[in-house]
Amino acid sequence: MTEFSMTINGSAVPTSETFGVVNPATGEIFAQAPQCSREQLDTAMESAYKAHLQWRVDEGARREVLHAAADALSAAVDELAPVLTAEQGKPLADAKAEITRASVWFNYFADLEFPPEVIQDNEKAFIEVVRRPLGVVAAITPWNFPVSLATWKIAPALLAGDTMVLKPSSFTPLATLKMGELLGRVLPPGVLNVVSGVSGLGQWMTSHPVPRKISLTGSTETGMQVAAAAAPDLKRLTLELGGNDPAIVLDDADPATIGEKLFWGAFTNNGQVCTAIKRVYVPERLYGDIVDALAEQARSVRVGNGMTEGIRLGPINNRPQFDRVSELVADAISGGASAVTGGKPIEGPGYFYEPTILANALDGTRIVDEEQFGPALPVVAYRSLDQAVERANASNFGLCGSVWGTDVERAWQVAARLECGTAWVNTHLAVQPNQPFGGWKWSGIGVENSRWGFYGFTELQTLHLAKS
Ligand code: NDP
Repeated sequence: MTEFSMTINGSAVPTSETFGVVNPATGEIFAQAPQCSREQLDTAMESAYKAHLQWRVDEGARREVLHAAADALSAAVDELAPVLTAEQGKPLADAKAEITRASVWFNYFADLEFPPEVIQDNEKAFIEVVRRPLGVVAAITPWNFPVSLATWKIAPALLAGDTMVLKPSSFTPLATLKMGELLGRVLPPGVLNVVSGVSGLGQWMTSHPVPRKISLTGSTETGMQVAAAAAPDLKRLTLELGGNDPAIVLDDADPATIGEKLFWGAFTNNGQVCTAIKRVYVPERLYGDIVDALAEQARSVRVGNGMTEGIRLGPINNRPQFDRVSELVADAISGGASAVTGGKPIEGPGYFYEPTILANALDGTRIVDEEQFGPALPVVAYRSLDQAVERANASNFGLCGSVWGTDVERAWQVAARLECGTAWVNTHLAVQPNQPFGGWKWSGIGVENSRWGFYGFTELQTLHLAKS
């Protein structure tokens, strides 16, 4: 048995096979993760199904357990964070913050009320609308925020009375496996099962007959495959997919004030955030000043191994993603953009890449039109605001966007014209548990967080009593 175990029916289970997990700061395999067999996945699904029959009964007990889960996570920050940094690459302080936030999410859902709604009570009828659990949820997460994004699924699903089989990305399975072990000590057996593996485990889950719902955070391409896999069984779906978030700077913005915020809106987690700023539209008058402000931030930030004190940006998480960012930046430069800072990988081991600000970027180049998901930001000039809004919306993605200016009323009106799930004014990446989060168009189906996200883990039932 490896140091990291899957949790199935409340127990750590041994596997005969494992797969290597790479530390992106070194490029070397540093741990082995268990490879789930088909039989083990069946056992996990069956145990989740059996557990749900009891788990769905007592809402009060569920709330208590969710609070206990929050406590268990906050007590384990120091244990989990180095594992998350080693497999994901993010600085240790960010890994700690991610686990702390997960605990906040558990507490939020532990207290979220969902009372029945009486929609008619008169001489003709009493009609009430209630939320019922779905059953077993198959949850699949990506490699950028393994702990947070798993929690966005676990906490509301468990509150609803659902149970879960959760699979982290094969690039970052370890902190999630540890979280599964930890939560296994406070949850009844079978309520949360955590499995890991490469080679089709995700497909086995989405085509498995037991789950009534699939909740995926991942790329748009995977989302389309998962939607197709869900269709023959009409499994419910929540898909949180890719984004290409625009930030529109208005002509009354102050570059000195917004430069740092814009930078971190794009470069938090080394740009590996579904809802990072991935293209900035700037009026010609402010173009040079905004590029300078972003470049100043990029030059001053410390990049390195996330375990080193003071590091703000770690490596890109994995080799394919590193290659993709390198390719998109090279393509932009060959198309006429200029790297004001960065523009190439950092020499040495690991998947480090220079924080890159690309000036003279144009719509129609790949790095503007596609999701780069890494530390490179194109800055595009615009002449008229209508043109900027049109370009911002001219995308298959529609996750989030932001508008920046000093006339807040005007910025708010522009934000309302963005075709996306969340439109911010003078901020980006502001996500909180009571706020719905989801994408339009190719960025997803459904939302997570808040009561609206919670509803996605329920079926709606109408109870109708005839009185006459
Ligand atoms: P992937 O889509 O490659 O993988 C996501 C998860 O899906 C992984 O666990 C993966 O497993 C699994 N998976 C892959 N193929 C299938 C399949 N056919 N059926 C079932 N499961 C499958 O995404 P990344 O991990 O590369 O994450 C980056 C992407 O996620 C970006 O596009 C980003 O925008 C998006 N994302 C979206 C967010 C949102 O909330 N909208 C938030 C964060 C990221 P395995 O690792 O074994 O391949």
